[in-house]
Amino acid sequence: MIQLEQIRKTYTNNGQSIHAVDDVSLRINEGEIYGIIGFSGAGKSTLLRCVNLIERPTSGQVIVDGVDITSQSKRALRETRRDIGMIFQHFNLLESKTVFQNVAFPLLLDGKKAKDVKGKVEELLAFVGIEELANKYPDELSGGQKQRVGIARALVRSPKVLLCDEATSALDPQTTDSILKLLKDIRDQYNLTILMITHEMQVIREICDRVAVMENGKVIEEGTVFDLFSSP
Ligand code: ADP
Ligand code: ADP
Repeated sequence: MIQLEQIRKTYTNNGQSIHAVDDVSLRINEGEIYGIIGFSGAGKSTLLRCVNLIERPTSGQVIVDGVDITSQSKRALRETRRDIGMIFQHFNLLESKTVFQNVAFPLLLDGKKAKDVKGKVEELLAFVGIEELANKYPDELSGGQKQRVGIARALVRSPKVLLCDEATSALDPQTTDSILKLLKDIRDQYNLTILMITHEMQVIREICDRVAVMENGKVIEEGTVFDLFSSP
């Protein structure tokens, strides 16, 4: 589903080169929940941003569903991005819009009419368990509720891939559990491929099928969660 082939991302700061991602190759299967774990500065978020080309890799290919998206035209890439949803540590909601409007927003940007997206938005709000919050504003919600809005918004264009950037790091352990359970339900229901980065072992243990450990821009271990993290 997602193939990363020798991805490198080099930043230059005051003449100094930093290899934020240094020759990373990974294959993530359809329907898999794949975790990337590592300390702060390991290169996880740079790598994740390379997958949807928010960052252009300095070299290497990102192949989604057999298509090399690193060589796509701008227009083709816009289409590809519809297949890739993303959720964030700090939710990134629009504060001046209601829950309903936040979730509907990507479809309105696509030129759809509000009345035509209502069914889809309501279906997703129900799926993530917050249909009664449709008319609230983000500052009236708990962290867990905000992330449910973020998840519903990420799913509204029916993507094939969901990228999760430290999606539970701002949440307490109980809320984290409920969001992880929701992500698992989403994978099971929609056969979505989920790629998540985290610095929390609990997240990896709880829902990931396979995991890569990153350090200094490189993947230093890769395997099933059982292989890597079960005690001998
Ligand atoms: P992680 O997500 O694992 O904390 P990052 O991908 O954020 O790691 O960072 C990896 C390395 O790249 C760090 O050394 C960081 O300082 C550097 N870095 C990240 N983004 C930029 C940028 N936009 N410009 C320069 N250096 C960056
Ligand atoms: P099935 O696999 O049972 O045929 P569909 O793919 O037709 O299901 O989808 C059923 C419903 O779920 C539709 O309303 C569709 O828009 C929605 N849906 C499908 N995939 C996703 C997704 N990745 N994110 C959000 N909604 C989705």
